[in-house]
Amino acid sequence: EVRVRFAPSPTGQLHLGGLRTALYNYLFARHAGGKFLLRIEDTDQTRLVPGASERLIEDLRWAGIEIDEGPDCGGEHGPYIQSQRTQLYSDAVARLLANGSAYRCFCTERRLELLRKEALRTRQVPRYDNKCRHLTEEQLQPLLAKQTPHCIRFKLTSHETPLQDLIYGSVQHNVSETEGDPVIMKSDQFPTYHLANVVDDHHMGITHVLRGVEWQISTTKHLLLYNAFGWQPPQFGHLPLLVNADGTKLSKRQGDIGIAQFRERGYFPTALMNYISSAGGGFEHRAHAKLQLLSLSELAKEFRLELVNSHPSRLNAQLLNDYNQLEIKQRLTTQQSREQLVKHVQQLVKQTYSTHSHLDLAESHIVDVLNWAAQRLTLIQDLTSSKLSFLWVKPNQFELKDLTAKQLQQLMLQLQDLKQFEKDQLNDTLKNFAKSKALKFPALMKTLRGALSGLQEGPGVAEMMEILGKAVVLERLEECMK
Ligand code: GLU
Repeated sequence: EVRVRFAPSPTGQLHLGGLRTALYNYLFARHAGGKFLLRIEDTDQTRLVPGASERLIEDLRWAGIEIDEGPDCGGEHGPYIQSQRTQLYSDAVARLLANGSAYRCFCTERRLELLRKEALRTRQVPRYDNKCRHLTEEQLQPLLAKQTPHCIRFKLTSHETPLQDLIYGSVQHNVSETEGDPVIMKSDQFPTYHLANVVDDHHMGITHVLRGVEWQISTTKHLLLYNAFGWQPPQFGHLPLLVNADGTKLSKRQGDIGIAQFRERGYFPTALMNYISSAGGGFEHRAHAKLQLLSLSELAKEFRLELVNSHPSRLNAQLLNDYNQLEIKQRLTTQQSREQLVKHVQQLVKQTYSTHSHLDLAESHIVDVLNWAAQRLTLIQDLTSSKLSFLWVKPNQFELKDLTAKQLQQLMLQLQDLKQFEKDQLNDTLKNFAKSKALKFPALMKTLRGALSGLQEGPGVAEMMEILGKAVVLERLEECMK
């Protein structure tokens, strides 16, 4: 059985890259009928952010990712929070100490600092010099007797067989040549990432590790650890970096914000999930030329790890908006989701215009607005932008200029008689009216815009009329005559 995990550290918000890792693990599991686990990697107690785990779980659920085993739903291999599994790590360390794959290191912070400085001075990459590897039994005994604080390091050896990465193919990093022996347990008895990650992946029966490519170098160390334990390692696949369309690092402006912020801005989860999976391949029969929203189960069906590209995945930021607009259009086509949208809009409008008493919140009006908006807006939230306030609230008392009350009366009669209240006819009517009264068209438009919306800009006047509907238009024009 396929078992994969998403193993975030609760050190902050979930971002696009993390969500993509979670999604691909999830899709991989669902495709294979396997299990998706969530494990919280909180062994670096100095970097913990309170509440981060809960928010993470909330974000994943919002995105539609169902967790089969994890901190909130349990499972056979729990606990799923590393800080609650410390005994397991201590046992593992004892095992490595006993078989000679690990050693106690008594080097002080000061010595390590001096090593770092020396390396920088000679322009070398700082690395531990493995001094304590060579402590003799006689040197060790007194230190232990005095309970001298120490950490545990893992002996790196040259790893002969290269890593067979499911995405990158054969890769080799000779870590023992470039790095000092890594700490696997700190002096506070907490394991480091490397140890806890390997021990847990083993005990949780993980079959495939899919994670960001920034962990690829660590994987070499992990393989050595599996070897030292005498355990069969899982298979590894590293996901390429998510980058902007121009290849640069994701920036805040281009969307590298927390998932919660996408949610607050009003993006729909399906739109976001289609967006993050739109770059870098990985799907069979997915026609990228055509904008198409796939559900998570459809994505899972199409997902093939071998089809994920190994070069950075370039996100086209516009696509997120396109997907969201498409989602709005699709939700308008079925009654149930349409009703939900209407409720959503009602809530938003009430919130935005909480001080107004006569809001136009009739369902039919909102459906008209949504149908009109679906071609133009990317976010439902945009409906409450100030430019569109006319949709919901009556403008303030408006003083007629460039148009006499009599002329307005005549125009209202013509509007009243229109069979269809549509943009094109309305435009013709307004043009003809201006001509017949020798009025300047732009001036007439400006007056009508003010009368109908109280605003100086926004959609075209005829369009505005269409969306407001005949009754409201006449009512608002009538107001100007008072
Ligand atoms: N805790 C690591 C992280 O925050 C997990 C990396 C891995 O999946 O092994 O991304």
